[in-house]
Amino acid sequence: MKRIVLARRPTGAPVDEDFRLEEGPLPTPGDGEVLVRVHYMSLDPYMRGRMDDAKSYATPVPVDGTMEGGAVGEVIASNHPQFAPGDYAFGMFGWATHGVQPGNMIRKLDPSHGPITTALGVLGMPGFTGWFGLTEYGQPKQGETVVVAAATGPVGSMVGQIAKARGCRVVGVAGGPEKCAMAVDTFGFDECLDHRAYADGKEMRAALAEACPKGVDIYFENVAGKVLEGVLPLLNVGGRVPVCGMISWYNAGALGGNAGGEKDQLPKLWRTILVNRLHVHGFIISDHWNRYPEFLKEVGPMVGSGQVKFVEDIAEGLENAPRAFMGMLQGKNKGKQIVKVI
Ligand code: NDP
Repeated sequence: MKRIVLARRPTGAPVDEDFRLEEGPLPTPGDGEVLVRVHYMSLDPYMRGRMDDAKSYATPVPVDGTMEGGAVGEVIASNHPQFAPGDYAFGMFGWATHGVQPGNMIRKLDPSHGPITTALGVLGMPGFTGWFGLTEYGQPKQGETVVVAAATGPVGSMVGQIAKARGCRVVGVAGGPEKCAMAVDTFGFDECLDHRAYADGKEMRAALAEACPKGVDIYFENVAGKVLEGVLPLLNVGGRVPVCGMISWYNAGALGGNAGGEKDQLPKLWRTILVNRLHVHGFIISDHWNRYPEFLKEVGPMVGSGQVKFVEDIAEGLENAPRAFMGMLQGKNKGKQIVKVI
């Protein structure tokens, strides 16, 4: 089997030398375990956090350890009563051609329900994240205005489409005119702003103010940086901010300090939360898997009927996973970033 390991911890943005491709014997499944041949693996922004050894909500990947990640594939050997060779399953198999997991830690897929890749994106962890964060902490109501950045990714596009389905005005922020067109034409956003066109938070604010004439009721936080700076003064009283991610700072190091290089905004931020009685709610989706069946019940049929759209960006070959990952952190992906392993 082949796998990609963390060769060393990155400083700033990851580079080729931080990863290494290794070959070894096929793992053997133990009692209650299942061996899967991976067909597709997911690349997600959280993996950048796992490469650092800073204190976080999850343990870091050890140096020389297999890069962590979700994947889908075919069962080729099973010591678990609920899985048989030929079944398809989702599990945390890592950046590898094969993976072994306990049968109770993986989920069987029904390929007749649609492409198995959807278990990595629109109907997997990121889609669930967008649905859960928006509905639970955003509480969208008819006629409200929602802003979300990384608008064409699997989280942002789910947020936008569910908010539209609930009768909101939805303004996206994305990198480049092509992605902005995708947000509007494919995902049905009312408007989409290209963050690259604005030099700083002040310019972003002016553009957002124009796109959101009634202010902003929900800011779904995916990127932070200048989008956050621009949107903050536009939040209406009682506004909600589900804090999901802050990707513009992931490579900056020292998250929690003045990572984005913005001037010290802390007093202004804290005052805005007070004066506008904002509801700011951080969440980590792995705490909420008990809600996943509810998500599948609501959104599964919407995907099946084409009401909820999804776009996938599929890189070819495990050896190209690091490049695709580094590209995704810079916004080179168009839709959910996946790697076709076989
Ligand atoms: P995406 O597929 O949307 O990929 C990341 C995108 O972030 C890029 O394509 C790029 O889009 C955007 N981006 C990168 N750098 C910047 C920047 N400097 N400024 C603005 N945008 C930038 O990712 P996901 O949909 O998978 O994830 C979106 C967010 O949700 C991430 O922050 C992720 O960490 C978070 N998340 C949080 C979870 C939780 O449990 N809290 C679970 C899952 C995801 P563009 O080119 O359009 O700017």
